Amino acid sequence: MILIHCPKCEQEVEPILSESGKHTRADCPICKRYIKFLPKEINAKDYKMHYGKYVGKTLEEINNIDYDYLIWLHDTAKPRLQELVAKILGYK
Ligand SMILES: [Zn+2]
Repeated sequence: MILIHCPKCEQEVEPILSESGKHTRADCPICKRYIKFLPKEINAKDYKMHYGKYVGKTLEEINNIDYDYLIWLHDTAKPRLQELVAKILGYK
């Protein structure tokens, strides 16, 4: 459960969430107004590479075929991707 501040109601509310393309839209349950878009929670296993030698493959697929690549990726990726790779590798 998440709480978001509704500027109209001037209180923390539990938003009504709906899928909207790449984001999740949060609306206020009281005044029904749009509050903001939230980044989608990404499942590490389903994350698809958009660069490099395994473009279009998910991290889980890469884990099955080239574990060493994931280790390399973990060392070189940007923090957001690195976090996902760490989950696949079982790092804390
Ligand atoms: Zn509201």
